[in-house]
Amino acid sequence: MPELPEVETVRRGLAPVMEGARFDAVEARRGDLRWPLPKDFAARLEGQTVEGLGRRAKYLLADLSSGDVLLMHLGMSGSFRVAQDGGETTPGSYYHDRSKESAHDHVVFHMSSGARISFNDPRRFGSMKLVPRAELDQEPLLRSLGPEPLGNAFDAAMLARACKGKQTSLKAALSDQRIVAGLGNIYVCEALHRALLSPKRKTSTIASKAGAPNERAERLVDAIKAVLADAIAAGGSSLRDHRQTSGELGLFQHNFRVYDREGERCPTPRCKGTVKRIVQTGRSTFFCPVCQK
Ligand SMILES: [Zn+2]
Repeated sequence: MPELPEVETVRRGLAPVMEGARFDAVEARRGDLRWPLPKDFAARLEGQTVEGLGRRAKYLLADLSSGDVLLMHLGMSGSFRVAQDGGETTPGSYYHDRSKESAHDHVVFHMSSGARISFNDPRRFGSMKLVPRAELDQEPLLRSLGPEPLGNAFDAAMLARACKGKQTSLKAALSDQRIVAGLGNIYVCEALHRALLSPKRKTSTIASKAGAPNERAERLVDAIKAVLADAIAAGGSSLRDHRQTSGELGLFQHNFRVYDREGERCPTPRCKGTVKRIVQTGRSTFFCPVCQK
């Protein structure tokens, strides 16, 4: 499952060929994606200009001149290919093992920029949806999402308010999309390690009883932002030759400090600990029991 940094990398790859361009023609070849494409999908896109391409958590949001917003989700195996001037690229060049079989190209955009953008998704867990901009606040896919972790509004005070009195583990709290949006298993593990906080720590301990942030909340917010920013900065460059036989989205594995590093030496300076794997709420957690308190 792609996490926020991967989706942001895709957004940055698509923005130059989508923003300011018009949909000249749209092929909706297969409508039975994770949620069905609307019947009038192509008609509502054709002739419209993309005014901006944004992101909310793991959703890409294209603002259209019609007042609709095109909401796109990559699901498990989705990717975009951009064909232009005789060449073809896959935004986020770490996508090497993504399917390029045209049988899985479910949606194709022919843009006035000359680019042909194909949405390929063998497993069809991804999808697209059109939502009038005025109704975006009520959109069920977005409505319950918590703050954007890289947004200015997300700070220690906001995180502490959300965590006040919570008896769950920090790992479970940070994986909860209502508390902070877009974090998945990998970056939760990485952020907790960087903040030197145990994934098993009780969530309420980063806030006072009244919900004021303490020093742990400050550290955690800084770590979340840093981990995501580093992963986005690494996107598409550090993993050019990375291969994943599973066909899953290639991740920024070289930069992981603890994720999938069970048994390795903890990378915290002067820590003599070893990365351990435990299972929390059904998912693997990687952490250092020595320096993460
Ligand atoms: Zn350690």
